[in-house]
Amino acid sequence: MSISPLAGKRVVIDPGHGGKFPGAVGPSGVKEKDVVLSISTILHQDLLDLGAEVRMTRTGDTEVLPGGSLRDDLKARVDMANEWPADLFISIHANANDQPGPNGTETYHSRSASDRSKTIAKLIQKSMVEDVKLNDRGVKASDFYVIKNTRMPATLLETGFLSNPAEEQKLADPAVQALFAHAIAKGVGDYFSIETHLKPDAPLGPPTQGGQDPEPHFLEYLLAPGDPVEMLLVGQNR
Ligand SMILES: [Zn+2]
Repeated sequence: MSISPLAGKRVVIDPGHGGKFPGAVGPSGVKEKDVVLSISTILHQDLLDLGAEVRMTRTGDTEVLPGGSLRDDLKARVDMANEWPADLFISIHANANDQPGPNGTETYHSRSASDRSKTIAKLIQKSMVEDVKLNDRGVKASDFYVIKNTRMPATLLETGFLSNPAEEQKLADPAVQALFAHAIAKGVGDYFSIETHLKPDAPLGPPTQGGQDPEPHFLEYLLAPGDPVEMLLVGQNR
């Protein structure tokens, strides 16, 4: 077995929110932007240790495009992955609900996801649930902007609920943050070990109409019926 199993693989880690966009905030004041940056920073090192090439959309408490609108910020994350281009895009978040009860871990791929995107979502969800042991809310499909518009296998992780007081404390715990990061890294390793057996993504044509302008997707992102609170929170952060 190679000591660098992910050599040559390009991974973009996208810690959600940042700077003037805090994301979800728990009842004790724990901020999503801080939790996901901590998890992402550990994951970054884990993936480097496995030999991957890794870029983060942000490494500090800043917007990805400082001073820009939310739309600019989301587009900058997607552009970084598409222009490199990355082999895999992982967006890391924490969830929230207007009730304190909901809890657990869930993972998303886009509604039009490739087999590869569905597989990476499934493998990371499985690994997080096995290792961190929060409630298994499963793998779901939703068109979050960053996973709908990235042109490579992409997944968005909702590690746990900051609106649940017990889970808020866990998410703020550096030991639990490390557990999440190591579990995600394991899922990434599992994915690349079987990637070549999965159907490749369809060849990419020129950008579709609207491909240069995120506005239509952005509105859908905010307004699709049944969307989780994550999207509402993003909307409030504009
Ligand atoms: Zn988020």
